[in-house]
Amino acid sequence: TMAHSEALLVLENFIAGKFFPCSSYIDSYNPSTGDVYCRVPDSGKEEVEAAVRAAKDAFPIWSSKTPLERSQILNKLADLIEHDLEEFAQAESKDQGKTITFARTVDIPRAVYNFRFFASSILHHTTACTEMASVGCVHYTSREPVGVAGLISPWNLPLYLLTWKIAPAIACGNTVVAKPSEMTSVTAWMMCKLLEKAGMPHGVVNVVFGTGAKAGEALVCHPDVPLISFTGSTLTAQRIMEKSAPYCKKLSLELGGKNPAIIFDDANLSQCIATTLRSSFANQGEICLCTSRIFVQRGIYSEFVKRFVAETKKWKVGNPSDPTVDVGALISKEHLEKVVRSYVKKAQAEGARVLCGEGVDSLSLPGGNQKGYFMLPTVISEIKDESCCMQEEIFGPVTCVVAFDTEEEVVKRANGVKYGLAATVWSSNVGRVHRVARRLQSGLVWTNCWLVRDLNLPFGGMKASGIGREGAKDSYEFFTEVKTITIKH
Ligand code: NAD
Repeated sequence: TMAHSEALLVLENFIAGKFFPCSSYIDSYNPSTGDVYCRVPDSGKEEVEAAVRAAKDAFPIWSSKTPLERSQILNKLADLIEHDLEEFAQAESKDQGKTITFARTVDIPRAVYNFRFFASSILHHTTACTEMASVGCVHYTSREPVGVAGLISPWNLPLYLLTWKIAPAIACGNTVVAKPSEMTSVTAWMMCKLLEKAGMPHGVVNVVFGTGAKAGEALVCHPDVPLISFTGSTLTAQRIMEKSAPYCKKLSLELGGKNPAIIFDDANLSQCIATTLRSSFANQGEICLCTSRIFVQRGIYSEFVKRFVAETKKWKVGNPSDPTVDVGALISKEHLEKVVRSYVKKAQAEGARVLCGEGVDSLSLPGGNQKGYFMLPTVISEIKDESCCMQEEIFGPVTCVVAFDTEEEVVKRANGVKYGLAATVWSSNVGRVHRVARRLQSGLVWTNCWLVRDLNLPFGGMKASGIGREGAKDSYEFFTEVKTITIKH
């Protein structure tokens, strides 16, 4: 399935400030047409070795620059990406299948903001100092960059999540070797083309493209990469922990979720429905923070379900480049068939009811998109908590709705999964909101809202959703080593 008319886009690795072709390539598909449109380097040990060497060589100079000097380069890079925002948004939408509207308003603006945010926050950190007058000592802490950071990111928010790692890593004075997902590498490659103009010294940011098994693992196993920041699935994280264990690497792991929405009968239903639709289906449900278990208090359950399903049916699925479309294409044919659709089938086989979407309503697609990886937003009810659809991450436009009676009961059920990333709580009772938020096993709890983020504060998951947090202070702590120094006078 080659696109005949257009020439294939061919990406190259970016090492020590230069682009290098690779000896072999991976096909990359346009999810909205099913056509191969891009070739991504299939890098391995050799390319990773060259990139790590370049990053190591650049470290002494970059790490000795002042935070202000680094900050200015990050700001310049932010300006350059922002200048090309539309081009980046088009590329992200084509590569990932997400709607152009989402890429324009969420992905690329956030990538720009990631650089601006860390360019600013790096200027404002303070270290600790204590005094022990009785023994004539002062203690203070100092923080230094660690070295070459290995950064591995997933396909759902490609440039957004990659820059969320690159920005703090280099702001702190580390140099990096980044490996984006092999399915969504284009915007990272486009960013590399702007580094020179931003004034980034060669070797500070190196990007090696390729699969997790080859390029990713070579990075994880490289002895000169003392820290790995990873965002992706729990399964891959387990493998990374295992492979990096012999080197005792510093790890930051941002993993999957099975996020509950808890809706009490005193919630503002209109706001709650509008936001829960977004939290379930935004970016085709391919956000680690997406809601996939909706617990509704019995008294409002039928009204909620009726209105939620009616609103879900209004979401328009189609060509991602059409600005009126709400749901684009899923990342790959395999993800659509083997993961997302098969979960809906399993739920049906267990006796659950599909209220709308997959297998119930028909999907009509524009001519050019017949072979794209599309699916209707799907709502499942009458499903048991033990069902795989209520336990495992689906990572698509599928959400389950169930009823509950008491606060005590719903907290227990919400916590009854292996994950603990994000939860939403809907209620106008302030006391209850605080009580429930405190009891949820979840790194993030949003009450009466969703996805409102202050990058200053910690982001990350509990349980199988991860280890460590990212944010102004948290990323600073991860990307630096702290030392306690004692001075006797
Ligand atoms: P994935 O784990 O398959 O891949 C993530 C990255 O790891 C890719 O770059 C991949 O090439 C690489 N990789 C795969 N195997 C590897 C290995 N053995 N060694 C080194 N690298 C390897 O995840 P995905 O399918 O790309 O992304 C979806 C997952 O990411 C979901 O589980 C989602 O919840 C999670 N996610 C989490 C967050 C968060 O912040 N918590 C954010 C977005 C996505």
